[in-house]
Amino acid sequence: MSKNKSSESVKVVVRCRPLNRKEESSGPVGGIVQMDLRLGQVILRNPRASPSEPQKTFTFDAVYDGNSKQRDLYDESVRPLIDSVLAGFNGTIFAYGQTGTGKTYTMQGAWLDPEKRGVIPNAFDHIFTHISRSQSDKQYLVRASYLEIYREEIRDLLDPNHSTTRGLDLRESPETGVYVQDLTSCVCKSIKEIEEVMNVGNQTRVVGATDMNEHSSRSHALFLITVECSQPGPDGRKHIRVGRLNLVDLAGSERQAKTGVHGERLKEAAKINLSLSALGNVISALADGRSGHVPYRDSKLTRLLQDSLGGNAKTVMVATLGPAPAHYDETLTTLRYANRAKNIQNQPKVNEDPKDALLREFQKEIARLKAQLNHRRWRSKQKKEQVDGEDWGRDSDEEMEDEEEAVETETDDYVKLEEQRLEREKEAITEDQFLLVEEKQKLLGDLRKEQEATEQLTAKYKAMESKLLVGGKNIMDHTNEQQKMLEVKRQEIAEQTRKEREIQQQMLVQDEETVELRETFTSLQQEVEAKTKKLKKLYSKLQCIKAEIKDMNDEHVGSRQELEQTQNELTRELKFKYLIIENFIPPEEKNKIMNRLTFDPEEDQWNFQPLVPAQSKFSQMKKRPTSAVGYKRPISQYARVAIAMGAHSRFRAENIMFLELDMCPPNPSSLDCLAEAATNQTPSQENSPTKNRDIHKSSSWCQSSKSIPFSSSNNSLAACPAALAKGQ
Ligand code: ADP
Ligand code: MG
Repeated sequence: MSKNKSSESVKVVVRCRPLNRKEESSGPVGGIVQMDLRLGQVILRNPRASPSEPQKTFTFDAVYDGNSKQRDLYDESVRPLIDSVLAGFNGTIFAYGQTGTGKTYTMQGAWLDPEKRGVIPNAFDHIFTHISRSQSDKQYLVRASYLEIYREEIRDLLDPNHSTTRGLDLRESPETGVYVQDLTSCVCKSIKEIEEVMNVGNQTRVVGATDMNEHSSRSHALFLITVECSQPGPDGRKHIRVGRLNLVDLAGSERQAKTGVHGERLKEAAKINLSLSALGNVISALADGRSGHVPYRDSKLTRLLQDSLGGNAKTVMVATLGPAPAHYDETLTTLRYANRAKNIQNQPKVNEDPKDALLREFQKEIARLKAQLNHRRWRSKQKKEQVDGEDWGRDSDEEMEDEEEAVETETDDYVKLEEQRLEREKEAITEDQFLLVEEKQKLLGDLRKEQEATEQLTAKYKAMESKLLVGGKNIMDHTNEQQKMLEVKRQEIAEQTRKEREIQQQMLVQDEETVELRETFTSLQQEVEAKTKKLKKLYSKLQCIKAEIKDMNDEHVGSRQELEQTQNELTRELKFKYLIIENFIPPEEKNKIMNRLTFDPEEDQWNFQPLVPAQSKFSQMKKRPTSAVGYKRPISQYARVAIAMGAHSRFRAENIMFLELDMCPPNPSSLDCLAEAATNQTPSQENSPTKNRDIHKSSSWCQSSKSIPFSSSNNSLAACPAALAKGQ
């Protein structure tokens, strides 16, 4: 499978945007970032440090200052990567940096201004221009998907219902590596179509931005392009190469905790920043090379970029910086990460003939539809035999010739011929006087159906075939030869500049190491001078390294403090939860819940096991245990004992029921007399018939509370069973 097993490092380029209007107006301090474009170096000045303190220098594959053009960055640093994708490699470009430093500008830019179009639109042009210029024996299939990671949830931006549905899951297969399950992918046949896909996704993101505060700056956006190319190999068989390109616009890398947020906001911020710190950890682990474990699983972003960082993809990281003195710390952190990322080694390889190539399926489907069309043609010829009867002998020869020609003609011609022939048949049937009317109708109906089916099949065939792009077809519409030459020259120049810079960098390193060793000294004085110079150089280097160590220490202290703060918040939260659990959830219930909990390391979360075991899926649910048996409401053990002992009436849960009452059944005369009395005066509580009604009511409660231990109060109730029976 693999063509190229050699490893190559992640390409890291740095871009610094110009000072914006607000920064310019805030003072004449100027930028803190200087760039040596020839050597690919960034020199960072600490605005808080004394002028004598040495400045920090970082070297990268390429650097772009505020005056750099989008096109230069593309031609020099991105074009080779896209070429690799077109050759069947996996490729990733991601922009990393503080919010507002130009990540989105670099990745997308201003679409309408040709000078300001970013990496993504330039990549679209590049891919489709390449296809149109390639040889005609190549077939291409281009697909695009668009997703975002928001709060550790993967959302499909091409799915109109993405905001209502659950986040998508990540899966891993040995063939394709990590992929997103059920992600929408759109087949694109032109630059216009792929731009449309991008617009649809961007609009969905914009909707999110208005719904949620600062949404867009808090989500990572990934635009995925899959280019499948089929080409006949030396063995005569068609071989398919699949290149996958990830274009990633990360969320800002500012530290949320620094802004002093607390409680829920802190937790949210911790979650949002999780993927960025996980990305930092992955970069550190890979760059370090010593630690065996790379924490890809710590976040969705790092899992998606698993192939791009230390995997089989070619990767370009664009680190973006702001030149303002106020962001010195963030700029330094970005530069440190970028510097570390240079050491990551990938093992890019060509994806040749993967099992899941969609192009192969499309080709098979087209072949099947073609065969079906041929078969249909043969069948309609048979039909004609039946309709034309004796005329068949004469027509059959013509038909045969027709057919032979049709095999060679394009589908369009065939459809026309077919339509004409069917029309002729239709007329022949209508004119045939000897056929019965019903038979005619039937045949006409059959013919119509046949015609419709053929049309449907042809439309399907055409639709299927139009999805595939054939190399060389549109060469004339795209560009003339001169333009092509111009582009080639521009590429060559970019390549040349890159090589030059590489050589310059190598020379610089070698100079430092060897020049002084080779020097010969004519006099002692000269030697002393040379050695002093060297000593001074080494001393300044030592100072640099010391400053670096101090910075690192400061950074560690800072991040430790942040972590401690988060830990304190979380501990407080935990104590609060414990308090609730300990005081309000009975221990046996707590144990039951604990026993049902299982941890899913894949998803990194706790899950509830279903109450009904999976094997007895169809059996009845367990019955809910009855609570407070025999009582109207839950009652404490203490109260039960108190009731049993006949203590204070406060503990008689059902105290209305247990009132000591006069249980003798009322006789009709006394009732009459009482009714009379009722009209004159309010009856006393003790003797009123309502009292009896109370007894009736409470008797039913008493019946249900069989397990209640008899207290002195309900002894009297039990002593009057007749009254109770009557009450019922
Ligand atoms: P991010 O995506 O990193 O948060 P943006 O790409 O949105 O930042 O950039 C913030 C602002 O800075 C935008 O107005 C953008 O036009 C401007 N900007 C960024 N980079 C450049 C550049 N290289 N040249 C000119 N303007 C830039
Ligand atoms: Mg942005």
